[in-house]
Amino acid sequence: MSESMGKPVAVVTGGAQGIGLAIGQWFLRNNYRVALLDRDTAALEEAASAMGPNADVLLLDRDVSRPEDVERAASAVRSTWGNVAALVNNAGVAIFKPVQQTSFADWREVMATNLDGAFLCCQAFSALMPSSRGGAIVNIASISGLRASTLRVAYGTSKAALIHLTRQLAVELGILGIRVNTVCPGPVETEMAKLVHSAAIRSDYYDAIPLGRYGGADEIADAVGFLCSPQASYVNGQFLSVDGGFDATGVGLPTLRRMQVA
Ligand code: NAD
Repeated sequence: MSESMGKPVAVVTGGAQGIGLAIGQWFLRNNYRVALLDRDTAALEEAASAMGPNADVLLLDRDVSRPEDVERAASAVRSTWGNVAALVNNAGVAIFKPVQQTSFADWREVMATNLDGAFLCCQAFSALMPSSRGGAIVNIASISGLRASTLRVAYGTSKAALIHLTRQLAVELGILGIRVNTVCPGPVETEMAKLVHSAAIRSDYYDAIPLGRYGGADEIADAVGFLCSPQASYVNGQFLSVDGGFDATGVGLPTLRRMQVA
């Protein structure tokens, strides 16, 4: 048996770039084999060439919102490596618009990836987690799933639903030894953030986050890695905000902070 074959297997959706790629790299550094699933073929190829030839990486050019793609991805992982130890539902899309300008197509696009995709992957990949060894699932939600905000009717609702999906599955799959938890990132410097965060939004975030900065993708990956590790063996059905203290802050904080430093 090759050295590689003894390593646990992790599946990361949206793994071609940003937070997902950082999570994939965390698993590789920690002796896992990693399947990176993404619908962006070019980004997947770029990630693969940056990593170089690696028998511990499997690239799956698939769309999590399509049941047939998820089934094919699960079959590919099963036939290549067998059982799965960890699944991270990270693939996500953001459309920020006022409710009256959010078309039903916008709503469905966000739900299809952020919620349907996570549901489909949990179903397909938990079936590859043997109850004798258990497994861990981490869903990547957002602080937008915890705190309501303008322009996020679809995105925030999809992430709040994902947090509840986590609890549902933690109860049901916990019986099989599979732990399911959520990580809620604050703002992180990625392609998604570049798309939806203007200069003014950035400055507001700096004011509202006690640590006064965006998070790094590696900081999110460290939290995900912890939740998948044996160190978190009794953590199930929880959410962990990795947000520099954003979720803990109250109304009017920027003014109070200015008073504090005055
Ligand atoms: P990103 O846009 O940089 O990367 C997301 C990846 O997911 C892309 O490679 C994209 O191709 C892939 N993807 C999207 N839809 C897919 C689908 N249907 N099937 C397969 N792949 C798909 O985004 P990111 O900033 O790295 O975000 C990752 C996750 O973190 C998302 O769920 C996002 O909502 C969440 N998040 C991000 C931030 C932030 O500030 N960046 C904050 C909170 C939460």
